[in-house]
Amino acid sequence: MRFSKLFAPTTKEAPKDALLPSHIFLIRGGFISQTGSGLYNFLPLGKIVLDKIKDIIKDEMDKAGAQEISMGVVNPSELWRQSGRYEVYGKELLRIKDRKDNEFVLGPTHEEVVTDIVRNRVNSYKQLPLHLYQITTKFRDEARPRFGLLRGREFIMKDGYSFHSSIDDLKREFDLMEKTYTQIFTRLGLNFRAVAADSGAIGGSGSKEFMVLSKNGEDDILVCDKCEYAANTEAAKREKKRTDIVPPKADFSKFHTPILASIENICKFFRIDSFYTVKAVIRKAIYKENKSEIVVFFVRGCDALQQIKAQNAAKALELIEVSEEEIESAGLIAGFCGPVGLENVKFFIDNELREEKNLICGANERDYHYVGVSMFNFKNERYADLVEVEDGDLCPCCGGRLSLTKGIEVGHIFQLGQKYSSVMNAVFLDQNGKSQPFFMGCYGIGVSRLMAVMIEANHDDKGCIWNKQSAPYILDIIISNVKNEAQVKFATELYDKLKSEKRDVILDDRNERFGFKMNDFELIGFPYALIVGRDLDEDKVELVSRNSNTKEFIEIDKLNEKLREVF
Ligand code: ATP
Ligand code: MG
Repeated sequence: MRFSKLFAPTTKEAPKDALLPSHIFLIRGGFISQTGSGLYNFLPLGKIVLDKIKDIIKDEMDKAGAQEISMGVVNPSELWRQSGRYEVYGKELLRIKDRKDNEFVLGPTHEEVVTDIVRNRVNSYKQLPLHLYQITTKFRDEARPRFGLLRGREFIMKDGYSFHSSIDDLKREFDLMEKTYTQIFTRLGLNFRAVAADSGAIGGSGSKEFMVLSKNGEDDILVCDKCEYAANTEAAKREKKRTDIVPPKADFSKFHTPILASIENICKFFRIDSFYTVKAVIRKAIYKENKSEIVVFFVRGCDALQQIKAQNAAKALELIEVSEEEIESAGLIAGFCGPVGLENVKFFIDNELREEKNLICGANERDYHYVGVSMFNFKNERYADLVEVEDGDLCPCCGGRLSLTKGIEVGHIFQLGQKYSSVMNAVFLDQNGKSQPFFMGCYGIGVSRLMAVMIEANHDDKGCIWNKQSAPYILDIIISNVKNEAQVKFATELYDKLKSEKRDVILDDRNERFGFKMNDFELIGFPYALIVGRDLDEDKVELVSRNSNTKEFIEIDKLNEKLREVF
């Protein structure tokens, strides 16, 4: 490509809402343009990068035996009704009608459509396993589209769906996909971790997220400093919390506590550590068809409630804050709520409180607490993992120290099991001639998000720094002065030769100042520039590495050898 012909509208200014380096530099570098909130176009440079990322993904997916297809963006609502997701998916699902008033959705993900494709076409275990994937546009009406390509409304995803005749075969594919994703993100040169995750709206059991560690990430993840353990806060486990602080030993009794009850005040009042208190978190759980009820979650006073864990325990779609009136009308007394003797309200207790002794909790009576509480008499179903794991907690696998860091989710793999196939009646005949719903898995990668992640991972204050795997062009040959015939001749001949060798090269032949061209080189972030300038008189050219920010003069007769290293 000749720069003089390239449509790369670089700019000095970034849009006001661009806060992150990837957003700023992808716009300023002329990779993408914006048409609306969360809506982006890929310009030539952006399209090349996107295709390079796609090629790596496709290569690895094909190697793993998956087959590429392409499903429609507009999907009949009927399919979403069959799966039951039409109501529960929420406002991210854009619902539209055609001229005949038929209802459709813009596909935010394609479990329903792929299940419909496979049902009645695959009938026997002999045709399994089957893995179909696509790399196409998705639409999600995100509540807060932001950070450019990191969270768009229209974005490009690789989504794959696999079908199996047994759980074991699904697990085999899941492991294969974990390896495949590891290979993809390694080839892209990213610093990532596969983390245990919550399964969210897509549902099913067994899921892992691939997180690129980055300070600008939206996700909180806990990473062990000793072993491979890493998890999203929503799914993070820890070694049970312990303390050396002496417990407040007392016989079980009701104690008058005429204070404004908070964990802090209770600790002061009894002169104890919050480890020995039980905190009540009261929430309203929202279920299908707008049903709701008050639910209480009990955790140690020193712990915080993890919202998603709590939501899963209550099997709710959402948990929301409650007003004082709602607390009262549920028969609860704010500040004095405890699990002992609590009736007529649904409640859950954190696993770590199971069989603990010497605790203090509310007595469900104004101005009273129980002391000397032992957690023995609660039904098993009351217990759930509810706590938010924090920085410094201990690793559940090796006892190492967990640290809290930020990550950007670039991929997510799920074992769906029979969740979709059973409700959508997608069945096959097993070896015994018995009809069974397929065992399914699904596997996503944020392809357009990855483009931004590459820049979050590698940039400086001047612009993008692409690695060779994703760069729009690897070498930028810059003619310092296009009025100098010798420079033009040398650079053009070199460019033609490299092109004939199918090298990834661009020739900056524009009639612009040298400084202007260097600025574009730095902003766009090609890995290397070869400057053909005044030193050509001494048979030398200059090679600049964008990543290491180093320059070296190369003698022309050594150039070929050097360029082989570059590519
Ligand atoms: P997030 O928690 O970031 O919203 P998600 O859990 O909704 O992601 P999935 O449904 O698992 O995402 O989708 C698969 C992949 O698609 C994600 O791992 C992510 O990389 C990408 N992705 C999801 N939402 C967006 C978006 N709004 N813009 C760009 N990429 C996205
Ligand atoms: Mg999402």
